[in-house]
Amino acid sequence: MTATDQATPSANPDGGPVVAPDFELLYQQAPCGYLVTADDGSITAVNDTFLTWTGYTRAQLLGTPMQKLMPVGDRILYSTHSRPQLLVTGAVAEVAIEIVDAAGARRAALLSASRTPATDQEPATVRVIVFSAHERRKYEKELVAALRQAEESEARRAAAEADLQFRASHDALTGLPNRAGLLTGLAAALTEHATHRSGLGLLFIDLDHFKAVNDSLGHSAGDELLIIVAQRLRAAVREGGTIARLSGDEFVVVDQLADTDDAAALANRLLEALAVPVVLDGLEVVVSASIGAAVAEPADDTPDRLLRRADIAMYQAKGAGRNSFQVHDPTQTDPAVDRLRLLGELRHGIENGQLRLHYQPRVDLGTGRPLGVEALVRWQHPTRGLLTPVAFIDLAEESGLVRELGAWVLDHAIAQAAAWQRLTPKAPLEMAVNLSVRQLADRRLVGLVAHALTTHGLPADLLTLEITETALMGDPQAALDTLQNLKALGVSLAVDDFGTGYSSLTYLKRFPIDELKIDQSFVRGLGTEGGDEAIVTSCVQLAHALGLRAVAEGVETDAQRVALLNLACDSVQGYLFSRPLPPENLWAWLTTHPTAHTKQFTVQA
Ligand code: C2E
Ligand code: CA
Ligand code: CA
Repeated sequence: MTATDQATPSANPDGGPVVAPDFELLYQQAPCGYLVTADDGSITAVNDTFLTWTGYTRAQLLGTPMQKLMPVGDRILYSTHSRPQLLVTGAVAEVAIEIVDAAGARRAALLSASRTPATDQEPATVRVIVFSAHERRKYEKELVAALRQAEESEARRAAAEADLQFRASHDALTGLPNRAGLLTGLAAALTEHATHRSGLGLLFIDLDHFKAVNDSLGHSAGDELLIIVAQRLRAAVREGGTIARLSGDEFVVVDQLADTDDAAALANRLLEALAVPVVLDGLEVVVSASIGAAVAEPADDTPDRLLRRADIAMYQAKGAGRNSFQVHDPTQTDPAVDRLRLLGELRHGIENGQLRLHYQPRVDLGTGRPLGVEALVRWQHPTRGLLTPVAFIDLAEESGLVRELGAWVLDHAIAQAAAWQRLTPKAPLEMAVNLSVRQLADRRLVGLVAHALTTHGLPADLLTLEITETALMGDPQAALDTLQNLKALGVSLAVDDFGTGYSSLTYLKRFPIDELKIDQSFVRGLGTEGGDEAIVTSCVQLAHALGLRAVAEGVETDAQRVALLNLACDSVQGYLFSRPLPPENLWAWLTTHPTAHTKQFTVQA
């Protein structure tokens, strides 16, 4: 390009610039030719790129008609085809032509042109962009590469978005839909159900004692168990059914279920699938679950409502003894409201002296001699009569009210034991009191016990505190401290419901305990089922190996008593000997009980 070319690069014949100064460089060097012509086609401005491509100088082109750069055939095309279109103001015309360059070679090109009409001051102009096919090919590779890159990054973005969406709606551990995923799917399923009346049901599955597995075997074992549970549910549910994990140990199954019978059949199938023992960390664990089912009512059920109904039924199943299912009855009242009312009544009841203590004797298995009693709380409800702890103890525990309740029980049981001790000083009766999880975690516990013992004047060695295995293993280190402080007072400690949790042997050895109370569920099967016999045998052996007393509870039959005697269990409790009784009845029981011990009572009473 010459110096003169550079001097007036883009000037119109009248000297005005073709483009704004900002665009000057782009106009000159963009990869396309740019020309301005008058209405008759004579060139008034041309850019550097066009000159570079064609080899003409600017001076050669200015004033030359555009058509002259084309072969004869194309000239006609340019004038006959495009010009009428070019005259349409505002429209862009496109035409494929050939340009003859300075060396006489033909170059294929594509023209885009538009016309600006004349004004009073300015003649009409036609602006033309020329794309060279030859030049274009050079860019093609780069364009294709750029296009591919754009496509790839779009695909990556779409994949990332899909991944994000999957994560938001699925549980990372099991890969199952989570609550959000479930609710979305459920909304669609309910609509479908309403239109096709196909019958839809939801099962809410909550594992029993999952926390115990987590606490005693560790979180990775807990995770492993959850994955196995997910697999078993998947295998037990038919192809079209949905399985989701809501949180922790809560799962949901959604499937076509026409009625309550269908729901029950599926629930049974799931319980069976879960019942097969799992080996975790070399330890065989039996999983059970509580299942609540709800069959959708097309008119009333939203995803939330259906889920909530199944949840309510699940709680009822838990209350009914776990490893079972309940189907929700849509006509029943909301238990959440019932529970709130009951909680208010219980608080009021504790303050107003509605609690009672019943006492169940524990007897020496060899001699039949009564050794002590266990205090079991009752609530004399103003309208519902005498309630046993199943009706209110969980509620008290969850709400924290169990601290007040527990303090009341401790005080009254200790007072009663002290009174009996004064009556029969030579045949002391041990008093056993149950402690809840929250009580055990309460810093005031040790002070409370010490205070009650001194206030009522009961020797500490006549008090046994019963703590469930699960409560101990929840936070074994904290429990150890508390147990040591209690032990320092001189009281005895028992592990209650032994065998239902997952005790760590290491801790059992370190805990300053005196007694293992073998859970009644194992005692029940004695003399009938071989499995329970084995469990009770190893519980007794374990107790003795650790230097502890073995106590069996829930003894109802003589066959069970004999079996326990053969297993060398130390003492027993159960309906066979006596039900839990109000204090005056217990006293009567003791006096009629034919042992050396009762003679003492008869004399003293
Ligand atoms: P637990 O400590 O295992 O008490 C034994 C339960 O078994 C008592 O039920 C007792 O009545 C029942 N039982 C005794 N012998 C037999 C038998 O031969 N057959 C059958 N089927 N059952 C028998 P209860 O009184 O309903 O108490 C239930 C649970 O409530 C207790 O289980 C204990 O965990 C809790 N509880 C009771 N009183 C208190 C208390 O004052 N504080 C706390 N925190 N929990 C308490
Ligand atoms: Ca107990
Ligand atoms: Ca027990």
